[in-house]
Order: sequence, then C-alpha cells, then structure tokens
Amino acid sequence: MVSYYEQLVMKTQENYSRYYGLYAAGKTPIKLSQKEFPSYEEQIRMFAQKVKEVDCIIVGGASGLSAAGGGDFYYEDNESYRKYFGKYAEKYHFKGAFAGMMHQWSSREEFWGYLATFLYTTQTAPLRPPYLDLDALLKNKDFFVLTTNQDTQFIKLYPEDKVAEIQGDHRFFQCSACCTDDTWDAVKPVDEMVRAMGESTAVPADLIPRCPHCGREAFPWVRGYGNFLQGRKYDEQYQKISKYIQTHQDKKILFLELGVGRITPMFIQEPFWNLTLNLPGAFYIGVNAQYQFLPEQIEDKGIAILGDIGKVLKDVRAEKERMERS
Ligand SMILES: [Zn+2]
Repeated sequence: MVSYYEQLVMKTQENYSRYYGLYAAGKTPIKLSQKEFPSYEEQIRMFAQKVKEVDCIIVGGASGLSAAGGGDFYYEDNESYRKYFGKYAEKYHFKGAFAGMMHQWSSREEFWGYLATFLYTTQTAPLRPPYLDLDALLKNKDFFVLTTNQDTQFIKLYPEDKVAEIQGDHRFFQCSACCTDDTWDAVKPVDEMVRAMGESTAVPADLIPRCPHCGREAFPWVRGYGNFLQGRKYDEQYQKISKYIQTHQDKKILFLELGVGRITPMFIQEPFWNLTLNLPGAFYIGVNAQYQFLPEQIEDKGIAILGDIGKVLKDVRAEKERMERS
C-alpha cells in the first residue's frame, strides 16, 4: 500500500511532469503570494517565536542545507572539492563530485576509487555548523526529520526512527541490478578500499564490492543513477514520515523547509505547502539562498526567508537564546 506521504509526492510529481519547463526555468506553476515580505530581522524573530510556540516541528532538509557550511563540493570545482577529491580534480578536471559520477570510466578499479572517495568523504565528514544550530532549535521539541540528502549528516545526530531518508543513504550498498531487496553495510568496505588505494586513484580489483546474491557489482543505496532500490528500506522511510504526520496532524505543527532546489520540489516543498494548507494547526517556514516562494493560498500561514541557510539558522538560534534569557 502506498503510504500517505508518498501519495502527496506522487501528486506533486504529476504536476512537475506537466510544468517541467517552468520548474526547469527556476519557477513554480503555483500562484505565489504578492504580499511584501517582512524584513529579514522580523522574519528571524517570527521563526524563533514559531519554534517556541508550536507543539512539534517537521524538518525538510534538502540540498541547500547539505551545501551550507562546507558540503558544497557536489556541483563545482572549489576549495572543498579540491580538499577531498584533489587527485581526481588534477587528473580529470571534474566540475564537482557529481560530475565524476557521470564520467565514462576506463576501468572499474578507477571508478570504484572515485566512488569510494566520494562515500568516504560524506561518511566521515564531521557535523557541519548549520546542523548543530538546527539541533539547538529542536532541543526539547517533539520533531521529525525528512531529508533528501544522502550524506548521513542527520543520522549522525538522531536515531533512525526520527529520520526518513527518502533518497537513500551513503552508509548502505544495494545490488546494482536490484536482484535482491537486501541492503548492506558500505562503511567498512569503503574504508578498506580507501586504505588499499592510498595515493593512487584505483582500488584493487578484489576489493570491488559485489552483491552477495548474484555477484554483480554493488552500488550505493541512493537515487540519481537509475537503479535506486525502492524496496523494504525505502518503504520504511515513507512509513516513518507518514506515521509522524498522521499522529500529529491535530497539533500545532511547524513545517520547516531548508534548501529545496528547483529540480526536486516534489519530495519536500510542495507536500509541505499542501499539508500547511490542509492541516488547521500548521505553519510553514521556507529558507532558501536563491528563491523566496510562498504560495498565495498559505500566505497567512507561512513565511519564506531568502538567505544563506547557515546564517539564518545561526541567527534564529541566537534569537531563540535571547528570548529564553529575557
Ligand atoms: Zn544481485
């Protein structure tokens, strides 16, 4: 049975297909509020006040949150990309971590050298400051996290039952051909590959991880490459968020959207807009470095903050602590 939240996503997906051109141009087909936004300072104050007064918070963490505070190596060749992928940057001149994933590799050993480097980078990354500031806002609150980020930052902070990772997670492998519904640990094999590789760019052939059932290569359990395993583990993620919403729908809920890009409005942004409209006690806050979108239908039940997510969370945390002192 398709879960409650997945139904909302599917509904948005239809809209997305119909208006693809609009979304691709950085717009939305949904009628936006024409009201003037309050000042940045006023919005920070409203954000802190909402955190204080709601019964529960549902966080939607997306790519902009992942990029904030140093995780910005996915789409560009910059300082952090050079730091983690330096030897591949020198050799292949990729424009960011995802570009390497799309490369036609001449050997599987070299491909796995790159993939192991990618997974190792996120698996071992320390918690970034924006996540710690968000954590301070969630302190003593009833909350749940829904995320499209695969980089395991949230799971380093919270138990699995508080987090739904609907686009996968870098800690797990699946069969590249989806021959089985099993997923298994990727942390140990990645660590072994990175150690064996040393300064070279290729892993030993016998360390290439394989499916224990069919012997084909493993693949990270993530969406984005056409073979994402949408089995039991995937369903569990949607069950978790659906259950949380269904058991809290009569409460004062804050839907907090952080960093949704224009490529994937269907997983967090539009379901959050829809839920805010339909649940009587819901309020919406969206934070985005590029877009300030607030639908007209929920203009009295939400705010959209344009700004660097790292800075916004830091400022709201400071405001909340100031309110608690006074
Ligand atoms: Zn297999």
